[in-house]
Amino acid sequence: MGEPRVQCRTLARLFSVLLSCYAGESSAWSWRESLFGIPEPREPPPVPWAYSGDNGPDRWASLSPKYAACGGQQQSPIDLSGATVVPFSPLSFHYRSNPLHIINTGNQLLLHYQPGSYLIANHHPYELKEVHFHSPGEHVIRGTVADLELHLVHQDERGRFAVVAVPVRVGIRRNSTLMRIAERLPPVDLQGYYARRRGINAVFLLPVKKTYFRYLGSLTHPPCTEDTIWFVFDHPLEIDAGDLQRFRQVLGRNARPLQPRNGRQVFAFLR
Ligand SMILES: [Zn+2]
Repeated sequence: MGEPRVQCRTLARLFSVLLSCYAGESSAWSWRESLFGIPEPREPPPVPWAYSGDNGPDRWASLSPKYAACGGQQQSPIDLSGATVVPFSPLSFHYRSNPLHIINTGNQLLLHYQPGSYLIANHHPYELKEVHFHSPGEHVIRGTVADLELHLVHQDERGRFAVVAVPVRVGIRRNSTLMRIAERLPPVDLQGYYARRRGINAVFLLPVKKTYFRYLGSLTHPPCTEDTIWFVFDHPLEIDAGDLQRFRQVLGRNARPLQPRNGRQVFAFLR
């Protein structure tokens, strides 16, 4: 049973190298930069972290001084129960379409977003930087965890993060953009793979009913940056069981355990 999988991985790696050669570049990173305008990483590789074992979530804060915030008092994800209901204030999304290229970092599937797409919240703009996926969901919404959770990561001009979380559940009203992404997922265990150039628009990764919870937390993975504003949608997108299985095969289990609320208030913007 092992041999076909090995051959598959080898072929996929060969394909990735050929693509790099085709672009006249010597590395996958250069290829990424030349085709998509995404900057090459100039800094040394970050300290490895994982969702289990010696580099698992309980150890993140001690793996590197850069990850010290992982031991902070305003960490995410949390259970959103007991939210204070307040009058609805709409979030405004101004997203452009973007080439669908997916990077498997080993811990996450990332869709980098090109400049020019914004979330406006309370009259303040946050630029969309990336979309990534967690399996299963991370936040507890109305007492349950979703099958998947999408994170749309934004930053304002000062570098402050705002993350929009979208729960995804198995259902019959399948989201067509999630279906397209599922069809083009990178092979399992192959890192740095980029899918074909097809466009997607992240606005179609948002639920129709845009009621949401808001609280102050952190990125849910190293460096666990605090002072991050969370907007967690109440209503889920739907996906079929086969596509969910595809995501899970590639993602594995990449959900951080719940973090202490430490007295933080959660607001529910429900119509
Ligand atoms: Zn995330």
